[in-house]
Amino acid sequence: MKYISTRGESPPLSFTETLLAGLAQDGGLYLPEAYPCFSQDEIARLAGKPYADVALAVIAPFVAGEIEAGALRRMIEAAYAGFRHPAVAPLAQIDSNIFALELFHGPTLAFKDVAMQLLARLIDHALKARGQRATIVGATSGDTGAAAIEAFRGLDQVDVFILYPHGRVSDVQRRQMTTVDADNVHAIAIEGNFDDAQACIKALFNHKTLRDELGLCGVNSINWARIVAQTVYYFTSAAVLGGPRRPISFATPTGNFGDILAGWIAKRMGLPIERLVIATNSNDILPRALASGTYALGGVHATQSPSMDIQVSSNFERLLFEAHGRDASALRGKMASLQQSGSFAIEKGPLDAIRAEFDAFSVSEAETTQEIARTWRESGYLVDPHTAVGLSAARLTHAREPETPIVALGTAHPAKFPDAIEIATGARPRLPGHLADLFDKEEHFSILPNDQREIERFIQARARRTSKRAAS
Ligand SMILES: *Cc1c(COP(=O)(O)O)cnc(C)c1O
Repeated sequence: MKYISTRGESPPLSFTETLLAGLAQDGGLYLPEAYPCFSQDEIARLAGKPYADVALAVIAPFVAGEIEAGALRRMIEAAYAGFRHPAVAPLAQIDSNIFALELFHGPTLAFKDVAMQLLARLIDHALKARGQRATIVGATSGDTGAAAIEAFRGLDQVDVFILYPHGRVSDVQRRQMTTVDADNVHAIAIEGNFDDAQACIKALFNHKTLRDELGLCGVNSINWARIVAQTVYYFTSAAVLGGPRRPISFATPTGNFGDILAGWIAKRMGLPIERLVIATNSNDILPRALASGTYALGGVHATQSPSMDIQVSSNFERLLFEAHGRDASALRGKMASLQQSGSFAIEKGPLDAIRAEFDAFSVSEAETTQEIARTWRESGYLVDPHTAVGLSAARLTHAREPETPIVALGTAHPAKFPDAIEIATGARPRLPGHLADLFDKEEHFSILPNDQREIERFIQARARRTSKRAAS
């Protein structure tokens, strides 16, 4: 299978090349040349299978000819063996025909583990086959960094450098990054905000000699392999609820649009999905775009669901590319306009195509708190603020179409955001057993100024790839 860029000016790549590249050189995002398709019978046969079996069936066509089935199976099994629930992603019933898909049973309690645990093994495998090393760099406002550190720690072929804004991530999130004791892991607190950290990572990738010297590799949510790993749980949850014989709707707490895009891909692959509901907090660029046809940047608002506090929803570019009939030049125009003026228009045809499959709701802070309280009061179930945003949007869709089961994606464990939950319910969720000692462990991190040169020097001095070169 070959992968093409949404901007049309980079050559098609193999799966492995796409995996290691992350972003295309032309600034675009990779998509497969064609989507593998499953028949209704093939999907029906997934019901009742272990998560790893479904993952193997769903992912194999995307890596065909590059990763041998036995190796893929071993990586998938190892990735999900560390989840604390045997079903990996179990469903909980919240109300008649409303369900929560628990994606937070991985090591760092957020859904990012589901993709990152597999991504790390795929990258390590690809590098070993090529006899190469790589340096993983990423900026995080919390969840991605913890998931990446947990997934890549101790792997032979990679060093990991995660930048986070000093003093601006939660205590749980910081400790998940700083208490991991592995030589190849480096948590860096930069004296700046998340946008500064992100800008620093972008600058690292734009520094071509450094990029090649260190073998820089990005693991943020635009990496295609992460999206593929996320399509799996749309299949497993639909199968539990009687899909493909009846359509299911999904409401997905959305920031960078990776998770909900995975649902759209599952639909392209043959899974009958009725509605895909984009649920955002007050950072509502997507609901505004779907309502008005104008995608326009606004300011970032800090909310109780910080993993969705974004200004640009990067993966939306992939959906736009498809909605424009894969017209890369149209996409280049839109992205140039976004860069120059902070907005672009979506014409009627593509807009109608998107509206035919997606709804979008913005959930306010007060509504998020009310949803946490209501779900606790009525169903005795604690949800974190991100999941609450999804559930709130799910209820709106359910009121319109009560016959269709709707699944809200549960993207974080309530114990990751105990303050918001205590305010809403009076109950304070406790960390699961494997993290109970998180606040007793020693922290390791470096504080660096928001200075590109200094951050580069820090990474160069510690990435094993360069120190070897420097020594020879
Ligand atoms: C990253 C994240 C999201 C948003 O997912 P996207 O793929 O960026 O849309 C939602 N909830 C939690 C808890 C997250 O960590």
